[in-house]
Amino acid sequence: MSVSNLSSRWGQTPWTIDFTPAVHAIPEKTDFAVIGGGFTGLAAAAWLRLLAPEKSVAVFEAARIGAGASGRTGGIALAETAAGDLPSLGDVLAGFEKILHKLDVDCDLSLPGAWEIGRTGGLQQSPIDWTDSGALRVAREVPGGTLDPGQLVSGLARAAETRGAKIFENVPVGQIRWGAGPRIELGGSGVNPRVIAAEKILLATNALSLGLSGLGEGAHPRLTLATLTVPLTEQELQSAGLSARKPFYTADLPYLWGRVRRDNSIVWGAGLVSAPDEKNVAEADISSAQAAQMFASLEKRVRGLHPALRSLTFTHRWGGPILFRDDWQPVFDFHPECKNAIVLGAYAGHGVALSSYLAAWAVEVLLGRRGLPTWGKLAGQGRAVV
Ligand SMILES: Cc1cc2nc3c(=O)[nH]c(=O)nc-3n(C[C@H](O)[C@H](O)[C@H](O)COP(=O)(O)OP(=O)(O)OC[C@H]3O[C@@H](n4cnc5c(N)ncnc54)[C@H](O)[C@@H]3O)c2cc1C
Repeated sequence: MSVSNLSSRWGQTPWTIDFTPAVHAIPEKTDFAVIGGGFTGLAAAAWLRLLAPEKSVAVFEAARIGAGASGRTGGIALAETAAGDLPSLGDVLAGFEKILHKLDVDCDLSLPGAWEIGRTGGLQQSPIDWTDSGALRVAREVPGGTLDPGQLVSGLARAAETRGAKIFENVPVGQIRWGAGPRIELGGSGVNPRVIAAEKILLATNALSLGLSGLGEGAHPRLTLATLTVPLTEQELQSAGLSARKPFYTADLPYLWGRVRRDNSIVWGAGLVSAPDEKNVAEADISSAQAAQMFASLEKRVRGLHPALRSLTFTHRWGGPILFRDDWQPVFDFHPECKNAIVLGAYAGHGVALSSYLAAWAVEVLLGRRGLPTWGKLAGQGRAVV
């Protein structure tokens, strides 16, 4: 199964991506090539043109923008990384807000805080008091909030294009011929030229195309599942402890996360599906027996959490690719073959705010204005050779 026709296998999200990039002829060369049109790639393209408007920027997306995790995400904006705070990371949420502001992106971002919930050590006055393998209560409040994923994908793509980046949809990158001047081999029907020269490259393909990004070792792609309920009444939200509209996720297992949307419907998520070929999550399918059983179990769990949720019906089921690394750190490193190429991604369930934030940092590295972090190294690789 190729990367370019994944949408049909991963279900429909409740939001839409309303931006369609303009159609351009593919150039024979570009100063910067960005591979992958999710939050990371689109934010990087926009930021590149903001900082270096004289440089040409081309984004190659195998399917449609947002076809990977970004258009299918839960939409909970969190601070730090899945591995916690890391040296020189800085304030992710403040930096994310600043980037959105500079790029004029409106994605309905609201940062009232988020709840870590768990089966032990809850707050004395926990707003949430649910039943799910024990009593599930708020353990602590952390910085965070919510946004509309469709609006964020659209807004970043619009920001990139408005500033002069060219976005090519349905143009998968097959491979890269490394050397002092890398050559990118393009796939897709009717694509011409099929090879383009790029001075610098950002690989932002996340859980897909692991061979291309050099991300195979110590990295585990999965399809993670999400589902949406019909809107609740204010009274139902209040009884279930959700009227503060703070997103929540469990700090212990079994895992569960969710957030209330503007219309009072609730997105819930849990469950990881493996592909038959463990490293190729493009082959995972939400209509598989394994996924169907996980959706049924998730929806039964949600109905059992609290009497106010008992009769909820569900309107959407979807999945999206997620990449976990053994040390839980994102990858932020030169490609093993070339120090003019950076690999960025693998944020696990922490990429909504972090992706744009680190994309801006990666752009500064590509422009020679900043160094790489001390963390985020590709596993099992020597240093870049070219
Ligand atoms: C269901 C779900 C819920 C989540 N919930 C949250 C949450 O609530 N909070 C949070 O912080 N994080 C969450 N995450 C994680 C977060 O969504 C991701 O970390 C983030 O979207 C990653 O963005 P990205 O641009 O790096 O990758 P992606 O959005 O996956 O983009 C990669 C892109 O590369 C393209 N591509 C792949 N191969 C090629 C190729 N060969 N050539 C060209 N293009 C290619 C793909 O089509 C894709 O569009 C969730 C993820 C999922 C799946």
